[in-house]
Amino acid sequence: MTVSIEVISGLNGKAPAAILIATPQQRILLDAGGGLEPDADLWPVPENLDAVLLSHDHVDHIAGLERLPPGLAVYCTKTTAQALPAGYDIRLIPVRGQFQLADITVTTGSCGHALGGVWFHLAMAGGIFYSGDISMESSLFHFAMPPPAQIALVDASYGLYDVARHTQWDKLQSLLSLPGLCPVPPSGRAVELALLLARSGRYDIALDAPCMAMLEQMAAHNDGSLRPGVEAELRQLLQVLLPFSLQAGVVLAADPDGQSGMAGELRARSDFHHRTLFTGHLNRVARQQWLDGEVEFCRWNVHPTLRCLQKLVAALACRRLFPLFTPIDDVLHWQQTLGCEIMMQSYFGTD
Ligand SMILES: [Zn+2]
Repeated sequence: MTVSIEVISGLNGKAPAAILIATPQQRILLDAGGGLEPDADLWPVPENLDAVLLSHDHVDHIAGLERLPPGLAVYCTKTTAQALPAGYDIRLIPVRGQFQLADITVTTGSCGHALGGVWFHLAMAGGIFYSGDISMESSLFHFAMPPPAQIALVDASYGLYDVARHTQWDKLQSLLSLPGLCPVPPSGRAVELALLLARSGRYDIALDAPCMAMLEQMAAHNDGSLRPGVEAELRQLLQVLLPFSLQAGVVLAADPDGQSGMAGELRARSDFHHRTLFTGHLNRVARQQWLDGEVEFCRWNVHPTLRCLQKLVAALACRRLFPLFTPIDDVLHWQQTLGCEIMMQSYFGTD
């Protein structure tokens, strides 16, 4: 069987995820991301799709779904489904388990990055692995190591950056010693930052409604995304957190771009003076604000560092790797560092 893999969007830059896997029988889209910049170009929607697989509920992985034809089969976990518009043929999948796409067995595993977030392993062409967004360093989320795959499409959002996350904690804490607003995705770092601050003895934390809803959901039920036992700690956290207040030392609020949602609303208020602290991707507006000294930035790893990428490559034993969501200026260096062929073009092969 012939197989082709085309990264429609997400290769050689931090861009929305959209990857087409095509065989003579099926055309499968992996993620349908929306733009991270307000004026981002739209990726071309492929024709004759049979299914879309969504990795997790962040904008750059799902917000392009509305451009796909209604009625299309959309495979995603329950948490991801909560964030989707109505009108799609949703097929719920487990965080850790298997399902069939006609003759292809798809395995899922928890991605360590978001509630209900998964990676996909397609049992074809010697194994095709698509990471979605992953992290191996989370204190909250569990990362399940995938089975071997010849071809890997991997979140490399941080390039070859290799600063382990625990070394950033001191900087983050010191920045948050003054009143701070962290724009965050609710299903991702919002709850993790609240958990870590509480572990360090800080309870003057306020979560906006979407972040609080995620905390409640995680405390009530571990769908396989969370580290074992952490939900009991989250239940304790729920009991000690005060109601949402602008007086809290740390305000965690969506959206992560810092321009929309509660984070955007708060920043527009004249009576709100918390310093804005970004911990994730800075879009063009946020980056300029950071360069102008208007906001703070301290990366809090929610994507793989180099040593995580190396660990993953070793576990997959992959021969070819598509480094996603990052600019690649020196392919040879990547090849030498990761020890596999770095793919910058579409792949055509036989199963
Ligand atoms: Zn994400």
